[in-house]
Amino acid sequence: MKSAMSLRVRMMLLFCVAVGVLLAGSYTAFYLALRSVVHSQFNQRLMEAEAPVSADLQTDADNEDIVAMDIPGEYFEVLDAGGRAVALSKNLAGHVIGIPARAANLQTVNDPKLGQLRLGLAMIHRASGDQLLILAMPTGDVEQILTRFRALLFILFPFSLLIMGVLSAWYVGRSLKPIAALTRETSQMAERVKVAAPGGMPARETLQPLPLAAANRDDELGRLAEAFNKLFEGMEGALTQLRQFVSDASHELRTPLSVLQGETELLLKEPRAPQEYQRALEVIDSELKKLSRIVEGLFTLAMADAGQLRLLREPLYLNEVLEEACTLATPRARTKGIAIERQLARDVPYVGDETFLRQLFLIFLDNAVKYSRPQSRIRVGLASVNGNFEVEFDDQGAGISPKHLPHIFERFYRVTQADAPEAQSGGLGLAIAQAIVGAQGGAIRCASKSGEGSKFVISLPRTSESGQPQS
Ligand code: ADP
Repeated sequence: MKSAMSLRVRMMLLFCVAVGVLLAGSYTAFYLALRSVVHSQFNQRLMEAEAPVSADLQTDADNEDIVAMDIPGEYFEVLDAGGRAVALSKNLAGHVIGIPARAANLQTVNDPKLGQLRLGLAMIHRASGDQLLILAMPTGDVEQILTRFRALLFILFPFSLLIMGVLSAWYVGRSLKPIAALTRETSQMAERVKVAAPGGMPARETLQPLPLAAANRDDELGRLAEAFNKLFEGMEGALTQLRQFVSDASHELRTPLSVLQGETELLLKEPRAPQEYQRALEVIDSELKKLSRIVEGLFTLAMADAGQLRLLREPLYLNEVLEEACTLATPRARTKGIAIERQLARDVPYVGDETFLRQLFLIFLDNAVKYSRPQSRIRVGLASVNGNFEVEFDDQGAGISPKHLPHIFERFYRVTQADAPEAQSGGLGLAIAQAIVGAQGGAIRCASKSGEGSKFVISLPRTSESGQPQS
C-alpha cells in the first residue's frame, strides 16, 4: 500500500510538473505574441495619425495648425534643428515633451506629467530649415490591457494547474486501482496457500486464476494478470508432477518394505529350520537390493533436477565401456537364450564419467533383455555420425505402442502391469538414462513397433579434452 501511494504521488508530481512547465511555456508565448501584436497595431495607429499632419507641415510655411490642434490622446510638438520647441499643440498647454534621441522614428518615453508615451518622429523639410514633428500618444490604455491580461494569466495558471492536479489524481488513482486489486488477489492467494498448507504443498483449488485477466484481457494489466495465471498454471503443473512423483515413489518403496516386514514377522514368530532362514534371507536380500536401487535412482534424479549431477571428465574409450556393459548383461541374456551382437567401432576416445556411462548402457541392455522374447538377439552398435557418437540398442522384443512411446522416459512410467515379472525394476531406468545423457549434453531417440522390437539411439556429443562438447 505504501509503495502504491508513493507511486501514485510520484506519478502525480511528474504529471503536474510536466503540465506546469508546458502551461507556463504556452502562457508566456501567448502573452508575448499578444503584446507584440498590440504594440505593432499601436505603432501603426501612431504613424497613420502622424502622416497627414507631417504632409501638411511640409507645405505650410508656419506651424499655426499645430498650435490649434486639440485632439484627445494625441500631442503634437515641433522642434527646430537645435532641439528647441517651436510649436506645441493646444492640449500640451505649454508642456514640452523631452526626447532622448532624435534618430529613432519610434520610441517610448516616460514623461513626468503625461506618463508613458509612444513617440512618432517625422522630419519636416522647409526653406527656413529642417524641423522635427513629434506625435506623442499615451500608452496607458494599451499597457493596462496587457497588465490585465497578465494578471488573468497569473490567476489562470495556478487554477489550471489545480484542475490538472485533481484530474491527474483521479486518473492515476483509477489506473492504479487494478494493480491494487491484483496485489490484493495475489496476497489473498498467498494467504490461502499458507493457511491450507503450512510448510507443505498447496491444494489444487488454492491456485485459482485471477479474475482480472478475464475483465481486461487486452490491456497491460490484463496481460500481467494473464502472466500471473500462466505462472500459477505452471506451478500447478509442477506441483501435480511432484505430488504424482511423491505418491509413486512412496508406492514403489512400500511394496519391498511390506515384503521385508512380512518376512521378518514370519521368522520372528517361532524358531525356524535353517533352510527357512536361508530362503527368507534370500528374499530379504533381493528386496533390500531393489530398495537400494530405487533410492539410488531417486537420488540420481534429485541431483539431476537440482543441476548437481556432477559427471567426471575422464578420458576413456567408449567401445571399451560398452563392451564391459555387454559382458555384464550377458549372464542375464543367456538365461533367456538371447544373444548380444556387438558392432562397435574400435578405439573411440571420449571424455566422460565411466561409471555413469556403464550404468547408462546397462539400463538399455537390461531393458532389451527384460522385454525381449527368449532366443532372440540384441544388436549393440557404436558409430561416429556427423561428428557425434551414436550408441544403438536394437532388440526383437515386445516393442512399445505409439500410445506409450511418448511417456516411457517419465518417472515410474511402466507399460507393463506392475505385477508382471519384468516390471520389477522400478520404472526409473529410462528417466535416469535421460538425466545422465542430458548431463552429458546428448539426446536419446527411440523407434519402436509393438510386437517387432525397439531401437534406442543415444547420441553423445564429441567432447574435447576439457570435457566440453565440441562445436
Ligand atoms: P522399467 O524399470 O519398467 O524397465 P524404464 O524406465 O527402464 O522402467 O522403462 C519404462 C518402460 O518403457 C518400461 O516399463 C517398458 O514398458 C518400456 N520399455 C523400455 N525399454 C523397452 C524395450 N527395450 N522394449 C520394450 N519396452 C521397453
